[in-house]
Amino acid sequence: MALRVPISFEFYPPKTDDQREQLDRTAARLKGQSPEYVSCTFGAGGSTLSYTPETVQRLHEKHGLDAAPHVSCMGGTREELRSLLKLYRALGCKRIVALRGDLPSGMARFGDFHYASELVQFIRDEHDGFFHIEVGCYPEMHPQAEDAFADMRHFKAKADAGADGAITQYFYNADAYFRFVDDARRMGISIPIVPGIMPISNFTQLRRFSEACGAEIPRWIGKRMQAYGDDTDSIRAFAAEFVANLCSRLMDGGAPGLHFYTLNLSKPTLNVLEFLR
Ligand code: FAD
Repeated sequence: MALRVPISFEFYPPKTDDQREQLDRTAARLKGQSPEYVSCTFGAGGSTLSYTPETVQRLHEKHGLDAAPHVSCMGGTREELRSLLKLYRALGCKRIVALRGDLPSGMARFGDFHYASELVQFIRDEHDGFFHIEVGCYPEMHPQAEDAFADMRHFKAKADAGADGAITQYFYNADAYFRFVDDARRMGISIPIVPGIMPISNFTQLRRFSEACGAEIPRWIGKRMQAYGDDTDSIRAFAAEFVANLCSRLMDGGAPGLHFYTLNLSKPTLNVLEFLR
């Protein structure tokens, strides 16, 4: 049974042959879920720059998936970004996820752009209308924002610069999303805001990620996970049901799509989709 809304899957670019094989397995399994598109993240710094285009090409050519590269302000100078966009156009990409990115430790400077809104404007100016541009947004506030209202104004700047849609940071509190969308509409932001969904696989890792990106894990979930101890079957079943319920609530409340952060694993996402269907 098809879901009520389009879905998309996010992958990270593999760096080793083992990781490439894992992505191939995951992409092949998830393709069966008929995603609208898949996206591939971007890591700044040195050789990692080439992994995203390479992966996007692999997802296109080997798997026949519509792959959208993430492009960040850390991707270099205006000239370097210009070449990257040209390359993506030549590879057949029609959608870009435009971000500021985060400065990896040891890297001393940004490229020519400091905020995602400037990158969105650049993409619009250079390729007006060709790329569908997605941006990131934060129902629980970006951790570096001055406050939630300032963060919303900065989100609006990205929409005003020409973003076509937004994908949220992951969250486990549906009310944060609904409130965020209401506030965005009141501010005059009319682009679709698709919730980013993080299926739960490794709880320790999730807790670490969440501290860094400012996503709140409700206390009761942490306590449940702790109580399950090493009972991985129960953890898996509980996590899939909990995240599927979140997705249902979001769709019932009008979410226009679901974007899954897969971490290049198929099972946790498939478990959630199985519950949903
Ligand atoms: P921006 O919109 O530029 O905002 C960054 C911060 O600056 C916010 O606190 C904002 O409030 C503030 N700000 C914006 N404009 C101004 C202004 N004019 N003056 C003052 N403050 C301002 N990271 C990666 O490195 N690679 C990826 O592939 C990647 N993929 C992601 C995908 C999604 C869907 C999401 C939600 C995030 C992703 N990230 C990725 C993480 C993202 O790069 C970080 O969260 C980053 O810190 C912010 O990126 P942004 O595009 O939201 O930045």
